Amino acid sequence: MELYQYTARQLQQCLSDNEVTSEMIVNSFLAQIERVEQEIGAFITVTADQALEAAKESDIRRRRNELVSPWDGIPIAVKDNMSTKGIKTTCGSKILANYVPPYDGTVIRKLKAAGLPLLGKTNLDEFAMGSSTENSAFAKTCNPVNWAKVPGGSSGGSAAAVAGYEAPWSLGSDTGGSIRQPASFCGLIGLKPTYGLVSRYGLVAYASSFDQIGPLGRSVEDVADLMNIISGYDQLDSTSVNRDCPNYAAALTGDIKGLRIGLPKEYFAQGLNDAVKAAIMAAVDKLVAAGAVVEEVSLPMTEYAIETYYLITSAEASSNLARYDGVRYGLRVADEDSITMFKSTRSAGFGPEVKRRIMLGTYALSTGYYDAYYKKAQQVRTLMRREFAEAFAKVDILITPTTPTTAFGFGEKKNSLEMYLSDIYTVTVNLAGVPALSMPVGKDQEHLPIGMQLIGQHFAEEALLNTAYTLEQVKLKEGCVHE
Ligand code: GLN
Repeated sequence: MELYQYTARQLQQCLSDNEVTSEMIVNSFLAQIERVEQEIGAFITVTADQALEAAKESDIRRRRNELVSPWDGIPIAVKDNMSTKGIKTTCGSKILANYVPPYDGTVIRKLKAAGLPLLGKTNLDEFAMGSSTENSAFAKTCNPVNWAKVPGGSSGGSAAAVAGYEAPWSLGSDTGGSIRQPASFCGLIGLKPTYGLVSRYGLVAYASSFDQIGPLGRSVEDVADLMNIISGYDQLDSTSVNRDCPNYAAALTGDIKGLRIGLPKEYFAQGLNDAVKAAIMAAVDKLVAAGAVVEEVSLPMTEYAIETYYLITSAEASSNLARYDGVRYGLRVADEDSITMFKSTRSAGFGPEVKRRIMLGTYALSTGYYDAYYKKAQQVRTLMRREFAEAFAKVDILITPTTPTTAFGFGEKKNSLEMYLSDIYTVTVNLAGVPALSMPVGKDQEHLPIGMQLIGQHFAEEALLNTAYTLEQVKLKEGCVHE
């Protein structure tokens, strides 16, 4: 096996056994990027020089016994909507095509403080709006499992980088499924943490009351480790939660005896692909064999999830994206007066999906429509939160498919509505602010990965990770971890 095929845990082992250096590891990933990037297109920017520089510094620290964390020297890729000082942060948009932030976001600061070299910034749907990465203004990203399929979105580049062995792990952001759905399409583990657990400072805002940063990896241990690196209170994010974070890796005991699993019947209804359903049920059987108990639950408000989600997120987006006016950030299309300059800049800078959402959001917030749309949607959101809370009074975690189908082809979703509908199982989680994890549980007839979603109550990341770990161990014993 080559170094670029190792998980972060395996790399950590090699480093601490002094078998390899961080420089060798980074070189191995850069060589793999060189080999496959032409086809996969996971990155918008590859930061080869900075990564090698950081790796050499890590190797010096190792020789001096001055390691800054247990992950010192293990490289990472990051979605291009997180602010990186001195490195372009485009959000997949023409309006920020040449934007170089003057500061690091909190997660980037934490990665640096832990000694992780940054391999580059990954492709995404423009401003994280989309489910296939087809909305990126710059690049096409292919699913490394099958190049004819999308990698999912909006963190498609972050998922493709890990699935294509161009990075051992990565960070994505999830507003309505953007970590879990690409993880599902690419056969990875992805975690959307509880709202407020990971700082959003320096994450370019799409819908501020939904957005969360989270890890993608090829093993549950890697995802737990990355959570240890990035989680925690941050004064710079007013929605950050001030509470102690557990050691997520220590939660991986492999013991789930007595765990109560709920299967929400609305998530197994019409529209769900048979192969996906069969794989989820087989995985649930394995969890039962490991000591869990299962019951059916009901979340009737799921019916309104798509409308509610797209209405509130578009409203928040229309407000958040007002700042791109050609004055302070990025693109400016010069024109005779300032109003025309705003218009020309925004017309040229934003892509069609972003414009659609700005218009929808502005409409929903305008006088006369606010009560009928925005306020109503917020009321539904409250009911959904309650419904989740009621479910979690009965069960510890909920299990659902991550997506109704496996990865679809480029151009297959003919219009926005079709694309929106594919988010049905993931958006409820962000509406409620609870954590959820997607993990691979099998493949369909086309050998495309099937993802299973585990949802927990607020701050139940440990239960999600441990359940995923338990299942991963069962699959390892059965020899089908690569299914
Ligand atoms: N597909 C959803 C949307 O377009 C989710 C995106 C995300 O989580 N960033 O809004």
